[in-house]
Amino acid sequence: MDAVCYKGPRELEIIRAPVPQIRDDQVLIKVTCCGICGTDYHLAEGEFLAKFPLIPGHEIVGVISEVGKDVKDFQKGDRCVADNTILCDSCFHCRRGQYLLCENFESIGVTTDGGFAEYVAVQSKKVYKIQNLSDEEATLVEPTSCAIHGMDKLSPPVGIDALILGAGPTGLILAQLLKLNGASHIVIAANKGVKTEIAQSLNAADVYVELDRENPAPQWGEIKKNYPKGFDVVIEATGAESVANEAINYVRRGGTLMVYGCYSKQAVVHWSPAKIFGDEIKIIGSFAQVHCFPRAVAYLESGKINVKGMVTDIFSIKDYPKALEKLNSRSACKIAVKP
Ligand SMILES: [Zn+2]
Repeated sequence: MDAVCYKGPRELEIIRAPVPQIRDDQVLIKVTCCGICGTDYHLAEGEFLAKFPLIPGHEIVGVISEVGKDVKDFQKGDRCVADNTILCDSCFHCRRGQYLLCENFESIGVTTDGGFAEYVAVQSKKVYKIQNLSDEEATLVEPTSCAIHGMDKLSPPVGIDALILGAGPTGLILAQLLKLNGASHIVIAANKGVKTEIAQSLNAADVYVELDRENPAPQWGEIKKNYPKGFDVVIEATGAESVANEAINYVRRGGTLMVYGCYSKQAVVHWSPAKIFGDEIKIIGSFAQVHCFPRAVAYLESGKINVKGMVTDIFSIKDYPKALEKLNSRSACKIAVKP
């Protein structure tokens, strides 16, 4: 089969690989679509948990083409998505039920071979059937699962004002989740272009503010003027150091900053401890997800979270380098790869 392979940091090749052999508890998924996200770029750079050589791709959508002997709930031909997380169940944190902090956290497409290939093998307990969603829309199930985990961490009180920095798929899904779960007013700050247009078409926020992540300072004045008390919740979802550094200044006294982007390891912020202390600001991180797929599938299948139009670009496996370039240009919302 054709597959994308990261042989090492910044060593990308399109290879011919054998079709994976499944174990008795696995299914073989014929990939129909697989989403790219910032993680895939960081992996290509050798950051994150990358283990090389690696077939990346962790937002997997496909059709079941083979079923392991012990698998009861699936049949050949079922359309499905796959939860990419693999947990050890026996480390310090797993034994405490803190599965997200698993010390041996593995992920399909990050530490084991993933979905930028024609086939991928997945444990059946990690597979979920889909009905109404198109293949492109279903690439948003994984990002939605991560956003649901973010909401669990945030557990926002009813009636809050929220500021979301960044209008990538994550920002757009979090905005909708906040709307469904108690926010009274949502502002999205993002650069002009396709993502803001999609945000508006999805009616994701009440107000849209332009944000230049290379030079965020001028926009802050504008936000501060209109929201002098700041926001109960600020979500940093750009992954930009410059924006993360400023984000804390828009948190209302007693409010919460959620750090949600995918940052480079070198990124650092300079926050005033006096402000965090005096304003009683809560700072929380939210990374990936575990066990959030059932809720994500339900939200997307019901249409309550709308992801229509979010996939703006589709590439073949052979054109994967172009897909990464497009990702870097930040001119796409969601990019998907189809074998
Ligand atoms: Zn563990």
